[in-house]
Amino acid sequence: MSTTIDYYELLECERTADAGTIKSSYRKLAMKYHPDKNAGCKDSEAKFKAVSEAYDCLKDPQKRAAYDRFGHAAFQNGGGGAGPQDFGGFSDIFESVFGEFMGGRQQGGRAQQRRGADLRYDMEITLEEAYHGKQSDITVDISVACDTCHGSGAKPGTHAHQCKTCAGHGKVRAQQGFFVVERACPACHGSGEVIDTPCSDCRGEGRVEQTKTLNVNVPPGVDEGTRVRLSGEGEAGARGAPPGDLYIFLHVKRHNLFEREGTTLFARAPISFTTASLGGTMSIPGLDGRAHEIRIPAGIQSGKQLRQRGAGMPVLQGRGHGDLVIQIDVETPTKLSTRQRELLELFRETETGDECPQSQGFFSRLKNAFAGE
Ligand SMILES: [Zn+2]
Ligand SMILES: [Zn+2]
Repeated sequence: MSTTIDYYELLECERTADAGTIKSSYRKLAMKYHPDKNAGCKDSEAKFKAVSEAYDCLKDPQKRAAYDRFGHAAFQNGGGGAGPQDFGGFSDIFESVFGEFMGGRQQGGRAQQRRGADLRYDMEITLEEAYHGKQSDITVDISVACDTCHGSGAKPGTHAHQCKTCAGHGKVRAQQGFFVVERACPACHGSGEVIDTPCSDCRGEGRVEQTKTLNVNVPPGVDEGTRVRLSGEGEAGARGAPPGDLYIFLHVKRHNLFEREGTTLFARAPISFTTASLGGTMSIPGLDGRAHEIRIPAGIQSGKQLRQRGAGMPVLQGRGHGDLVIQIDVETPTKLSTRQRELLELFRETETGDECPQSQGFFSRLKNAFAGE
């Protein structure tokens, strides 16, 4: 059945040909070499078979990818009876060759990687909690080592014995085409051991589902996306293998006053135009629970930033704090009393333009622009 002629060559296609091109080329050739049209011609019959075989492979994107990579070796499955017994075709090669790269552990069942799975737990905290740190109890449903058999999976008083099929390696090897294929031992499912009398509490798994309460220590200074690892608190490994880890993914809720960038805290503070003109102080309630007095210099403009050193977020697992940055927004009054309006009218009469050098400069530039100079 096996041929050594390149499938693309047989189908008279480029290696880059798309599915449609391959299909129409196959149809043309199949018609040409069809036994009905070439009765008794051995050559045509062979060619027809070869073309069909080539098309069977290349029409399937997965098979085509395997062929592109490994050539005919990908399909020499037990040729002449000398190869492995029943390997279920190329999908096993695929798994064996790529399995390790494509998500390794999650594919499960491979002997040396029987450590339990890592788990993820998402936790939402406030910015205040991120500032101060937090101790928190969480409950998670995870599989833990079975108490009855201490994770062995064997009924207490009995023991697992070494698997005879794989001599305890958990893996068997077989020659498949050019490859030596290694796969989980079918007798012991990769564990290397066979249990005669399984533990009745865990049915031989060595682990049971349990609701567990864990104490999580969130250190001060954590940020959105910070992960806290609880070593060994993930899934139990099968039959006494070490457990995985539990990762707490932290999410920090939006704060109604502060925004954060690293250790710097930002806040926008609207101030009245009189405070902006005359100067003053304002009090900002910090995340540390203290009120921060911030001095506003006379004549401050909108957009100006005032920096309070050390009033920002703590440095995660370090010393000190970032800064608090206050961005000033000067607010124009919109509800004036009659008295206030009179005072402002009076004020305007005294204006010379020198009070506001920026607008003064702007208007004189406008005048020059229209004067043509
Ligand atoms: Zn058990
Ligand atoms: Zn085995």
